[in-house]
Amino acid sequence: MARRTQSATRIVLAVHGGAGTMSRADLAPRREAQRRAALERALRAGYEILEEGGPSIDAVAAAVVVLEDTPLFNAGRGAVFNAAGEHELDAAIMDGARLRAGAVAGVRRARNPILLARAVMERTMHVLLAGAGADRFAREQALPLAPPGYFSTRPRLAALRREKLRRHGKSAQIEVPEAEGHGTVGAVALDRHRNLAAATSTGGYTNKMAGRVGDSPIVGAGIYADNTTCAVSATGHGEFFMRAVLCYDLAARMRYLGEPLRRAAARALARVAAMGGAGGLIALDRCGRLAMPFTTEGMYRGYVTGSGKFVVRIYRERRLRGS
Ligand code: ASP
Repeated sequence: MARRTQSATRIVLAVHGGAGTMSRADLAPRREAQRRAALERALRAGYEILEEGGPSIDAVAAAVVVLEDTPLFNAGRGAVFNAAGEHELDAAIMDGARLRAGAVAGVRRARNPILLARAVMERTMHVLLAGAGADRFAREQALPLAPPGYFSTRPRLAALRREKLRRHGKSAQIEVPEAEGHGTVGAVALDRHRNLAAATSTGGYTNKMAGRVGDSPIVGAGIYADNTTCAVSATGHGEFFMRAVLCYDLAARMRYLGEPLRRAAARALARVAAMGGAGGLIALDRCGRLAMPFTTEGMYRGYVTGSGKFVVRIYRERRLRGS
C-alpha cells in the first residue's frame, strides 16, 4: 500500500515532450490530442511502477520509452533528421541516490536510446558511449535494434527540406507545423524510498551537422539527478545549455545557495535566456515539489501526484505549478 496520506499532494513523476514555438493556431486539434494522450500514457507507465513501490530509475526509463516509441516526439521513432538526412540519437539517464549516470550520443540503431543509456550505466564502467561503439554495445546487450527507416516520419522529412531551403535563403514552400520543430522528451521521478532519477532522450535539431552532440546526453547540461538537491531534464537550445551547464547550475543553486527548487529553476533558466538560449526544464525535489519553467511559447509537459492525479499541459497557463 502506498503511503497515501503523506504522498497525496506531492508530485512523484513528471514528463516533458519538448519546448518550443507552438501557438494554439499552429497545432491541429487532433495532433494536440494525440500528444496529450501520449504524455498521459508515459505518465501512466511510470506511475504504475512507482505505485507498486518500484524504483524511480525504472519509472523514468518506462516513461521515456513510451515517448520514444511515439512518432510525435523528437526521440526514438519520429526523431528529426540531421543535415545528412540521417538520425543520430542522444539519451541519458541518472540515478540520484548514487550519482550513477549512463548516456549515449549519435546512436543510429538502438530502438530505445534510453535503454541503451541505462545499459551503459549499469553494465559498463563508462558514462557516455558514442556512435558505432554504442550501437555495437546495444547489439551485444541484445537490446532492441531498428533499421534507420524505423525512426523516419514524413513531417520530420518535410521539416528537413524546409530547413535546407530556409538556410539557402529560399522561401520554404513546404508546410510544416511549428510543432514539428522540437519534441525532445524527458522524465523525472521520486520513488517511495525518496530516491530521485532523471532521463532525457532526443534526436537533436533538424538539419544539425552530422556528428553534432547536444546537451541531452551530457550530465549536468541536459540532465542531472542528485538526492541532495533534485532531478532535472531539460529541453531547448542545447549549445546554450552545455555552456551554462544548465541542470547542474540549478542543482548547485539549491546546494550552495540554499535556493528552493522553483527559484533555482527560474534563475538557472533565466541565465540561459540572458545568453540567448531558449527552452525549458522539469525539475523535482525530494519533497515532491515540481518546477516546470520554460522561456518558449509552450512546453509539452505533465505530472502525476502521489495519489494518482494526472495533469497534462502544453501552453503557458496562469497559476500553473512551477511555470
Ligand atoms: N536539447 C536538444 C538538443 O539540443 C533539443 C531540444 O530539446 O529540443 O539536442
